[in-house]
Amino acid sequence: MSGRSAPTAGLRGAALGLAFVTALACGGQKRITGAPATPASTHAAPAQAPGATGPGAPSRASASTDSTALVASAVGPAASGGTPPSPATTSRLDETRALLALTGTHSASLGAPGGGTLRGGIALPRAGPGFIHNDKRPPDARYGTVELVHAIVKGAAAVERELPGIPLVVNDLSLPAGGPIAQHGSHQSGRDADILFYVLDSAGAPLRSVGVPLDPEGKGWDFKELPVAEDDIAVKLDAPRTWRFVQGLLEAGGEDVQRIFIVEHVRAFLLAEAERVRAPAALRQRFADVTCQPGTPHDDHMHVRFFCSPDDIGQGCLDKPPIYPWHTLALQALGLQPVLERVANRAAREQQVDERTTSRAEARKRAGPMHATVRRFLALREQWAKQPRPGRLYCK
Ligand SMILES: [Zn+2]
Repeated sequence: MSGRSAPTAGLRGAALGLAFVTALACGGQKRITGAPATPASTHAAPAQAPGATGPGAPSRASASTDSTALVASAVGPAASGGTPPSPATTSRLDETRALLALTGTHSASLGAPGGGTLRGGIALPRAGPGFIHNDKRPPDARYGTVELVHAIVKGAAAVERELPGIPLVVNDLSLPAGGPIAQHGSHQSGRDADILFYVLDSAGAPLRSVGVPLDPEGKGWDFKELPVAEDDIAVKLDAPRTWRFVQGLLEAGGEDVQRIFIVEHVRAFLLAEAERVRAPAALRQRFADVTCQPGTPHDDHMHVRFFCSPDDIGQGCLDKPPIYPWHTLALQALGLQPVLERVANRAAREQQVDERTTSRAEARKRAGPMHATVRRFLALREQWAKQPRPGRLYCK
């Protein structure tokens, strides 16, 4: 990690553990090859009528209509009788409720994820029903568009309501006014968010996620002090909670969800879980379509990206591929079409990204001594860190 990110290193020192070695260069886009827009007729996913409000395609108009009920139901029995909630809980709920009452016009994403700004962005609260913002991350990196923040809050609330026990941990979104942000290639225009997977300990109890990489069995380690073996904690993916969050995010975000960057094996676990719980087929297909493993493996978190909202398109919001046929249709129904970013000087942009981010090799070098299991895990990780070419329509 460079001097640019030294404050983060100082927070946990060596205890930042494997998260220190791995979760450093999120959203560097230069190695992601986006697929061009493809005619709807060649796509296997069920076509959705513009404005459809089925499970896979909630309308934007529904964004805040049920917000009060949603927040109330997410906090469990205390909110519906019995012991009154504590003042802290009440104020957190009030904050979340006020946030969910905002409409999309409150914020504007200007420019593109890798070169843009944010106007009127809203902060994800530091804590709310079923989520926290990671206090190891800069508190300023909590800002996003209304659409993005709403979808995260609603996804977390769905988990809190149905599978309570541990909060979702959210890492960086964008800075209050957007623009370049340390350790990220994108996250500039309020439409990107890094979200940690829910995890369990070896006994199956929920554990607050610290963002460690998960192997092809869905297992990983919180190595804590890297030279010390005795403090290691084994963790494994909590697929039910992670899927439930993703489902809630997709339900809330609808056509606005463009990408979920995620390592292939965690994607597979989540698809299997979605099948196990008989999640709506349209949502499973949507998840399958929007997920992709980029050059940085995203085995320790997922990166969610939203399209420009219809409100923002006319204000200078720019998208990049892929543009899905269902997104084009949804915009067409509103008399709009996506506006794509054109990068005049790609080499200069890549240079800037390199300066803000840290490669795995650099991070590893700076992490210092580590015991044998850490070294073995990192060596194994090279196998799944290579960007695969799964041959899917939108993930090439
Ligand atoms: Zn990211």
